[in-house]
Amino acid sequence: MTRPDPLDAPTDRPLVLICNDDGIDAAGIAALASALDGLGTLAVVAPFAEQSAVGHAITVRDPMRVHPWVFDGPSGPVWARAVTGTPADCVKIAAQKLLPRPPDLVVSGINHGPNTAVNVMYSGTVSAATEATILGVPAFAVSHDAWAPTDFETAGWAARQLAERVLADGLPPGVLLNVNVPDLALADLAGIRATRQARSRWEEEFEERFDPTQRPYYWLGGRFVDLDEGDDTDLAAIRDGFVSVTPLQLDLTAHDRLDLVRALADALTIPTDG
Ligand code: MN
Repeated sequence: MTRPDPLDAPTDRPLVLICNDDGIDAAGIAALASALDGLGTLAVVAPFAEQSAVGHAITVRDPMRVHPWVFDGPSGPVWARAVTGTPADCVKIAAQKLLPRPPDLVVSGINHGPNTAVNVMYSGTVSAATEATILGVPAFAVSHDAWAPTDFETAGWAARQLAERVLADGLPPGVLLNVNVPDLALADLAGIRATRQARSRWEEEFEERFDPTQRPYYWLGGRFVDLDEGDDTDLAAIRDGFVSVTPLQLDLTAHDRLDLVRALADALTIPTDG
């Protein structure tokens, strides 16, 4: 069986790049490709191995390998490549090397587990969408509020709806969407809610264990703490049975705190000789 080459794709159809951080074998990315079937020309470029919680890491000190992959979509084979790198690597190399032209849309997911609150900072799923935004391509990330999801109907529906809207309307420059989906059947979904990131933190615990030669090693665990009582947060939305959609921006500058830094700069004096 021959697989379709995106080079042959008619250019009047949108080119949609699918990525994730759970690896190209994950159930969530197959569900996402199914959900986006027929939307345009689909291409999957995803990490060869799981890259959850790598944040926005990129590979600069090791070679990257790109492996052809067999990826079966509902309408037949989907062009796919597995990359020995991170989610951000996948989007970079897809947009700038592997695909015949930059994609019209990048969708990352469907992640196994939520990416809410402070976890956005650690998320590889979000970083794939962030990288697309840096490259000027509209993008969103979709995460399912279950670590071993069995039913992607609701997340797939949300991804499809948003993909159609974003392809039609675009997104403002520098802005991406972070979508979190409750673990509910579509019939039980309360709706879609615009949200902000909840304030939160992890209370970490490093468990010390010992290898067979009695050298210690450490295993990160801990407890997630929601510090936010607002009902407009991402955490509250999925708790209340809504799909949470948070607009994120590349610019991390605290613009309303520039005065604080100006005052700091004014207060500093540079030593001069003599
Ligand atoms: Mn993941």
